[in-house]
Amino acid sequence: MINLELPKKLRASANQAHQVAAQIFRPISRKYDLAEHEYPVELDTMAAMVEGLADSGTQKIGGAAGGRNDEAGDVEFVSNANGGNMSALLNALETSWGDVGLMLTIPYQGLGNAAIAAVATDEQLARFGKVWASMAITEPSFGSDSAAVTTTAVLDGDEWVLNGEKIFVTAGERSTHIVVWATVDKSLGRAAIKSFVVPRDAPGLSVARLEHKLGIKASDTAVLLLQDCRIPADNILGSPEVNVEKGFAGVMQTFDNTRPLVAAMAIGVTRAALEELRAILTDAGVEISYDTPAMNQHAAAAEFLRMEADYESAYLLALRAAWMADNKKPNSLEASMSKAKAGRTGTDVTLKAVELAGSLGYSQRLLLEKWGRDSKILDIFEGTQQIQQLIVARRVLGKTSAELK
Ligand SMILES: Cc1cc2nc3c(=O)[nH]c(=O)nc-3n(C[C@H](O)[C@H](O)[C@H](O)COP(=O)(O)OP(=O)(O)OC[C@H]3O[C@@H](n4cnc5c(N)ncnc54)[C@H](O)[C@@H]3O)c2cc1C
Repeated sequence: MINLELPKKLRASANQAHQVAAQIFRPISRKYDLAEHEYPVELDTMAAMVEGLADSGTQKIGGAAGGRNDEAGDVEFVSNANGGNMSALLNALETSWGDVGLMLTIPYQGLGNAAIAAVATDEQLARFGKVWASMAITEPSFGSDSAAVTTTAVLDGDEWVLNGEKIFVTAGERSTHIVVWATVDKSLGRAAIKSFVVPRDAPGLSVARLEHKLGIKASDTAVLLLQDCRIPADNILGSPEVNVEKGFAGVMQTFDNTRPLVAAMAIGVTRAALEELRAILTDAGVEISYDTPAMNQHAAAAEFLRMEADYESAYLLALRAAWMADNKKPNSLEASMSKAKAGRTGTDVTLKAVELAGSLGYSQRLLLEKWGRDSKILDIFEGTQQIQQLIVARRVLGKTSAELK
């Protein structure tokens, strides 16, 4: 039988994240939307809390810290584990309901943390388990085509020497570490792309500038330069061997953990917009009925029901992808499906909510217009809508990336 109830332990941690979102994020949401590049000092209190919780072994507040696939947490059923991925997903959803820009700048919860959690050795987890790691893949010459990495890593004695430029790095200025994708041998193609943990104070690493953006303004987005940047040899994640047979699988595996998290962010913003819209429609005397066919209701109520159904399906797809990761089931297809659905639903619902709320929706008196701007990025980073659809199509049709591009 399918049981759609969340386990008790996960409910408690999601509830805690919701309280943080409601009491810390929402009150400062507009302030940091208007003050781009200003550090949200209120998050320092949270950082202390997050660290305290991590020390006590309790689940972290935010979400992007992700979880190892073998980290079985609360086990409600005999053989089904709900572990780090599921918990991280729910926390990301709740905090994004509060403010997704602030969520992306929660200390110690970067997308790089999820990458580390996915592929680090036990020794590396001990060293990097409590850092704040951003993720640097994109370069001036590519975005979607992540096999086109040109940043190089050359082993020199007991150090890697990295050279290249990384752009659009979320939390690239504030994080303590950056997970950098670089090639150890360009002639060997995509199999030679590895990820490296670069500490903020590594010699040769610098922030060139910060971007001004449409939304998620509370989150810093940096251009990073690596100029003969030196890091210890054992900061490479996974094996330094280049396995041409295995190809790109090593680094790509991190997306299976991070895509459901970005889906969760979109679902959180979607829920915020739906709640606000429901209140506005109710105030305007529009009844949303679950007993009457949509076509017999007010047009706005019918739209609401359609959007709520999209929200529910995005939520369930994301839960499935995280559950599969926690239960060591390959989830690339489901991770992409969840991100495609949630990314599109987020932009659709938030902008429709602005439309249905009329001039109030477009004004800064509410956060609806902000959510409309914030949600767009969730359909772009960690793979655009089109890229997720491409991956789904390849998996469903059994085609390789060379056969379907
Ligand atoms: C605010 C922000 C934060 C970001 N944070 C990070 C980060 O932390 N780390 C990081 O590494 N990167 C980050 N990025 C970069 C982001 O991942 C890329 O922007 C994204 O992957 C798309 O790449 P691109 O912008 O080069 O677009 P392109 O790849 O040039 O794509 C342009 C358009 O073409 C479409 N397209 C491309 N290829 C195909 C295809 N084969 N079939 C059909 N359509 C296709 C795309 O969907 C898109 O609509 C961030 C970007 C932004 C804006």
